[in-house]
Amino acid sequence: MRFAGREIRFRRSSVSLRMRLTLWYGGAFAALLVVFIGVATFVHYQQLVKQVYHSATQELETAEGLLVPAPDGLVTLNEDYFNNPQMRLRLERLLEVLTVDGRVLYRNKKLHDEDLGGPPLPNEGRGTYNERIVRLEDGRRVLVVSHYHRFHGQPLILRLAYDEAPIISSITQFVEVLALLAPLAVILAMWVVFTVTGRALSPLSRMVRRAEWITAERLSERLPVHNPKDDLGHAARVFNELLQRLEDSFRQLKRFTSDASHELRTPLASLRSIGEVSLQTQHSPEEYREVIASMLEEVRRLTQLVDSLLAISRADSGQIQLKTISFPLLDLVHEVEALVGILAEDKHQTIRIAGNEDIVVHADRGILRQAVLNVVDNAIKYSPEGSEITIALEAESQGSPERAVISVTDQGPGIPETEQTHIFDRFYRIDSGRSRDHGGAGLGLAIAKWAVEVNDGTIAVFSEGAGSCFSIRLPIDRQIASVAEQAQLAAS
Ligand code: ADP
Repeated sequence: MRFAGREIRFRRSSVSLRMRLTLWYGGAFAALLVVFIGVATFVHYQQLVKQVYHSATQELETAEGLLVPAPDGLVTLNEDYFNNPQMRLRLERLLEVLTVDGRVLYRNKKLHDEDLGGPPLPNEGRGTYNERIVRLEDGRRVLVVSHYHRFHGQPLILRLAYDEAPIISSITQFVEVLALLAPLAVILAMWVVFTVTGRALSPLSRMVRRAEWITAERLSERLPVHNPKDDLGHAARVFNELLQRLEDSFRQLKRFTSDASHELRTPLASLRSIGEVSLQTQHSPEEYREVIASMLEEVRRLTQLVDSLLAISRADSGQIQLKTISFPLLDLVHEVEALVGILAEDKHQTIRIAGNEDIVVHADRGILRQAVLNVVDNAIKYSPEGSEITIALEAESQGSPERAVISVTDQGPGIPETEQTHIFDRFYRIDSGRSRDHGGAGLGLAIAKWAVEVNDGTIAVFSEGAGSCFSIRLPIDRQIASVAEQAQLAAS
């Protein structure tokens, strides 16, 4: 039910995205159409007006040739000669002839004795044809063309006008047709967008449906990638990579938890059995002391293991704040030797240290010491009694930045090549029985690797046959080193 509920919610949101896209497109398209219709109407109107003025000008020229004198100094003309083949609008022609001082000499019948533009304007129609829109007394708007003309030596002004109403009605028709088609066009465009987005978003729907299936237990599921080259395919790939990383982390976490519990179980079981066995019979105080000593040994191992686990979990959670300082690396090596020297002495081993005391690094000293300590401790643990362990410190000049190299070489059993890549993994032991005898849980090198890497260094192992050599590389703090060199130069 829960899943079904989620499915429905998803469908709704997917449709709404599709719907939103369609509405946005429809709105934008409608607005564009309105602008388009506006511009088209305006252009159409201008064209019609231009055409009307052009016809009026031609007719005015004809009218000038048809003027005849009439009694009382008036003029008249035979309007039947007019024909207007160019105009597709049926327009009513209005005609007025007046003297330059405004006396009306002729008005045609359709003008119904109305005034066509009032008294003459200064220089009206002289040189060129004068065009203007005039509102008549009855409210009609007309397009008037006037021209100056000499008739039998008398200067006259001829005005010819057409009513604007037929133009307006033609424009109205034009707008009506467009207004009728526009909603159809918008609906059609929206339908196309709705269909296309539906098709385009269908991989997304499938991706989301699959994503809803993915839980912590099903992290191996992956989103379908339909077209790796398009945006959705790219998103799916990125998401799948994220899932891969999550799956890896989860697997690592699970393995870590089960390995850690396993490691904790062994010393705890050992503690319990030592206690139970010792309680079964009466013992002398000496024997009890031995029992307590072996229990304490197990407790020491447990404490060591818990410390390592704590270090690793802190490192994983990023809680550790590095406190970096610049310090001579050889001092650190000597400090490590002082800490583990007693263990080497127990096994009659010799630790030899050779190196340049001027090599200075900038790192978290405490964390780095843990790394060197673990490596040297391993060298002691896994090398036979009476063997020799060398710790060499030198600067490696090739490459940038310049690097300091601590090499820990022992005469132990060596590490087979196939194992060399794994020994830095958590809880990895080559020979678990032997390693556990030494108190190891397979965490020492994992911690060392982390400790070196957070200090911008690298750790590697080299082993061919007997003996191994662990090398830790760290960037040299050149500024401090050059100060030290300068001081040395000055002293010598
Ligand atoms: P442990 O705490 O068990 O020593 P590490 O992580 O320190 O675990 O080492 C992992 C494994 O690598 C060990 O179990 C051991 O078998 C092997 N190893 C580490 N250092 C050496 C060495 N110097 N010589 C031989 N084997 C080593």
